[in-house]
Amino acid sequence: MKALNLVDYHIHTARCGHAEGEMEEYAARALDLGLKEIGFSDHFPLLHMEDETLSMGLEEMPLYIWEVGELRAEFPHLPVRLGIEVDYLPETAARLPSLLSAYPFDYIMGSLHFVDGWGFDDPRNLDGYVGCDLLALWTRYFELLGDAAESGIFDVLAHPDLIKKFAFRPDADVSRIYRDCVDRVAATGVAIEVSTAGLRKPVGEIYPGESFLRLCFERGIAVTLGSDAHRPGEVGERFAEALLLLRRIGYGEVAVFDARRRSYLELPV
Ligand code: ZN
Ligand code: FE
Ligand code: FE
Ligand code: ZN
Repeated sequence: MKALNLVDYHIHTARCGHAEGEMEEYAARALDLGLKEIGFSDHFPLLHMEDETLSMGLEEMPLYIWEVGELRAEFPHLPVRLGIEVDYLPETAARLPSLLSAYPFDYIMGSLHFVDGWGFDDPRNLDGYVGCDLLALWTRYFELLGDAAESGIFDVLAHPDLIKKFAFRPDADVSRIYRDCVDRVAATGVAIEVSTAGLRKPVGEIYPGESFLRLCFERGIAVTLGSDAHRPGEVGERFAEALLLLRRIGYGEVAVFDARRRSYLELPV
């Protein structure tokens, strides 16, 4: 197999309650693919609800961090970063900085899986789409994404247009919504994630879509690359397609992080 000279910065662990496999298997898969570096970014405990099928508990955080450290020792030829995927909700955001500051993260990803209390990307909550005003939903989602960027809590915004996951899209032009959001993100300097996870979801498309990503490129927004792997076989999945998309738009590098300091890795041609 041709080496993928890329990084995968969005990998989960079984601790979240909805992923499978040992961390060693994720790392071994990355080595097999020839990835240059990986980052675990498991779900940070939700602060607004308790659901052990959505995230680990706060008491597990030290173990998660210790296990990433152990993995580094086990895989000396694969740089392994310590990341975390944190839900942004306006009602809990104020509690995050002090909670997160207790851990030695390389990077912190912000995600939106809830819009005004509704876990819109959870297949168990699909009934919320019945009779839903999709234009209002998308407007609110991208407004919250801008809020997340401006919160100053995050280094990267994960899967920026996750709201399209089930392929329910407003029957309207959303370019204005995208532009307003991307302008706000650009002003903060926060990076966005290009995620191949959307390719295995009903929408069948990389997050974010090409028009959104093009706006990001024009505004100078940096990108990270991730698979959102919840099983070892998903590490680096369909990265060739992500690379093509990035190249087509004009991106020549992806952001990588060490102790929350950003640098860049050149994309292979
Ligand atoms: Zn997950
Ligand atoms: Fe997510
Ligand atoms: Fe994730
Ligand atoms: Zn995710």
